[in-house]
Amino acid sequence: MATVYEQLYTNATVLVTDFIKSTQANDVANLYAGVDPTRLNWLEQAWMHWYQYIGNTTVATGIMSFAIHEFFYFGRCLPWMLIDYMGWFKQYKLQDTKIPSAKQQWECTKYVLKTHFSVELPQIYLFHPLAVMVGMKTWEVPFPSLWTQMLPQLALFFFLEDFWHYTVHQLMHHRSLYKYVHKVHHTYSAPFGLAAEYAHPIEVLVLGLGTVGGPLLYCWLSGGNMHLITMYTWIVLRLCQAIDAHSGYDFPWSLQNWFPLWAGAEHHDYHHEKFTDCYSSSLRIWDWAFGTDKRYHAYRAQQKEQKAALAAKKSS
Ligand SMILES: [Zn+2]
Ligand SMILES: [Zn+2]
Repeated sequence: MATVYEQLYTNATVLVTDFIKSTQANDVANLYAGVDPTRLNWLEQAWMHWYQYIGNTTVATGIMSFAIHEFFYFGRCLPWMLIDYMGWFKQYKLQDTKIPSAKQQWECTKYVLKTHFSVELPQIYLFHPLAVMVGMKTWEVPFPSLWTQMLPQLALFFFLEDFWHYTVHQLMHHRSLYKYVHKVHHTYSAPFGLAAEYAHPIEVLVLGLGTVGGPLLYCWLSGGNMHLITMYTWIVLRLCQAIDAHSGYDFPWSLQNWFPLWAGAEHHDYHHEKFTDCYSSSLRIWDWAFGTDKRYHAYRAQQKEQKAALAAKKSS
């Protein structure tokens, strides 16, 4: 009878062999043999043509993933840069005396680009074999249903990532760890959109695990009930969430003002200003549950009182 170790060794060998095989050139000519393109929507058709055009599923997913990441990261940052540069909406700036300079924005862009190409690019490229290993549908069309499959999965990913982020982020603030890794992200006490991914490579890696690990685990546990398009939608939403949380602006129409569980900039800006508390990424539930938002509530209440007193003084 094979020992547990022998069994583990066999399983590991199979996994590694599958991984290597999936990174090698593969034949896409027959991938869509039974698919009728007239029954697909324009996005599904474009998806199919992309995989056929590139001719290698690993390369096709790799290029598409990196391009989506860069397009949405900088695309989402642009309006925030413009707002800071033009001085619009100053009345909604959370730390209204601290507008980032063009030099700060440029330094931040260079750092983020360096991280994207050195730390994130290899991970993004290796994503396809990992996805295949856990049974995720990648090149397949049509896409899953938006209402019954994608939306519930996206809600679950937000919940899982938020818990991971809360736990790891709080750990990174521990005295013995802070100065080695997380200090980099706290360079800016008044954050701006681009600073969302301004972090030490180890932080990018560990927090990135919360973003990618949840969906991969779910996919594996559900027997492959997930498509790459859901993963992309999740990544884009998570990128927008992180950038908006660092924007430094709280508008009356911001999501947190009509969806009370959402953290948003108003919550995360406090964390950067005070270097403590409000450790979550997307939601407020864990900070509320573990009481790490008490000083934040007291501070915001005090600010509100001061504002009201100032307004009363002006009108009298
Ligand atoms: Zn922090
Ligand atoms: Zn931050």
